[in-house]
Amino acid sequence: KIGIPSNHLVHPNPRFGTNFVDYVQINYVEGIRQAGGVPIILPMGDPNDAETYLDSVDGLLLTGGQDVPPQLYGDEPIRELGETDIYRDQFEIALIKAAQAAHKPVLGICRGQQIINVALGGTLYQDIYVQQGTKLQHGQYPTAGEIPTHSVTATDGSWLQQNFGKRFLTNSFHHQAVNKLGQGLKNTGVADDGISEAIESGDGLLFAVQFHPEMMFKVHPEFVKIFQWVVDRT
Ligand code: MN
Repeated sequence: KIGIPSNHLVHPNPRFGTNFVDYVQINYVEGIRQAGGVPIILPMGDPNDAETYLDSVDGLLLTGGQDVPPQLYGDEPIRELGETDIYRDQFEIALIKAAQAAHKPVLGICRGQQIINVALGGTLYQDIYVQQGTKLQHGQYPTAGEIPTHSVTATDGSWLQQNFGKRFLTNSFHHQAVNKLGQGLKNTGVADDGISEAIESGDGLLFAVQFHPEMMFKVHPEFVKIFQWVVDRT
């Protein structure tokens, strides 16, 4: 049972009007199913209830979405910062801490990597182009999501290297990234500009990628292995 904390819609839209909904993109759900797990969507909730939610699942998948607000790692917002949602951040950070206390595995994808890093005391680039200065394209939209566009080099001996090889191609839809690493985390995948594309924890219970396997696996089935990582550790 893999818990997937939801995102929520807080802007009026044609389908739901102002009947706001909590939601998870179906490809994350399908990725967990493909890996043999049972996905369980957790509606955004009170951080004080995180332990109770965590008790009902064997692991977590943290998905993509909004930017992480810099206040959470001691920085002030720059103009390039996108939409943030502190309620989502607080709930997910509480879930990560509950999972760590219970020794349950946590997989992060995109924003999931960023929020794990911040939960463990790390920092982010609010905008990699302005703050890190990269010229590499990490936002491939409108190029289709299943098309890989940039290379990743994996660290020798890492789970990523053992499962994807020393160097592989992936997609990229982000403008934030890990800067200073949180406690116990290692960079195990980097793009050619040095931007972190994967982190793993020393205890083997946290793993996160900056790219989007949920957009890749239907065309490139090896990306199911990312979802397999969390299902295999339950
Ligand atoms: Mn990238």
